[in-house]
Amino acid sequence: MEEINRARALLAGAGRIVTFSGAGLSAESGIATFREVQTGLWAQYDPTELASPEGFARNPALVIDWYNDRRRKLSSAWPNAAHEALARRDDLTHVTQNVDHLLEAAGAARVLHLHGRIDSDRCHRSCGFETPVDIAKPPSLRSCPRCGAPMRPSVVWFGETLPSVVWEMAVEAVVAADALLVVGTSGVVFPAAGLIDLAHRSNTSIIVVNAEPIRSPANVRLIGSAAELVPMILPE
Ligand code: NAD
Repeated sequence: MEEINRARALLAGAGRIVTFSGAGLSAESGIATFREVQTGLWAQYDPTELASPEGFARNPALVIDWYNDRRRKLSSAWPNAAHEALARRDDLTHVTQNVDHLLEAAGAARVLHLHGRIDSDRCHRSCGFETPVDIAKPPSLRSCPRCGAPMRPSVVWFGETLPSVVWEMAVEAVVAADALLVVGTSGVVFPAAGLIDLAHRSNTSIIVVNAEPIRSPANVRLIGSAAELVPMILPE
């Protein structure tokens, strides 16, 4: 309880709050975290095979089928109490590694997707063609109507660089923040996780909410469910 009160006080006293989230934020909406995502039919595949340019070159249809399975699951998912508590505060900037739309579905306005969005496809050759995808009925492997290269999800794969404009906006927001609320990320996927170190170097207060302890700087660490803890610590 003492830690919850400390987190509340830090957030209540912070003028500018930035959130930094990972798959654990959406776990209680039924969306598997990265380590859980390889279940059932997909358990036999290495994640780097399903989410890398090399894997896509080897077996593009397999990669698209995997993403389409995730898209269909996401189409029937709803924001949980953590998304809702974050979205209620319209003054926050949300930096997320999640490729889902659940923060936006809860009503959050300023969301920076460091790893792209799964509800959009783009040309793999980067000719510039990008188009929204109906996640309930996603298309099979298809060609870019502009240049003929294969289309792929607008997400960042292993070995690819982050979208530079979004990254710069995230860095700027973190440096200017009084508090960084870190929710449901293992903090091991870089460069995204470097934002926590950046906050530390910028003397930003860091509050970490996670189901298990993570190795990162923090002023307060709360171990438990995001859907329970976030509404408890974030003043409306
Ligand atoms: P991760 O799977 O590495 O870590 C998830 C973290 O969430 C873990 O530390 C776990 O302890 C914590 N967690 C799980 N359930 C929780 C809960 N109910 N409450 C609080 N914490 C909980 O995920 P990551 O750190 O986001 O990094 C892996 C990559 O996976 C990211 O690049 C991300 O793009 C991608 N990913 C995204 C989604 C999504 O969009 N929802 C889903 C899976 C993977």
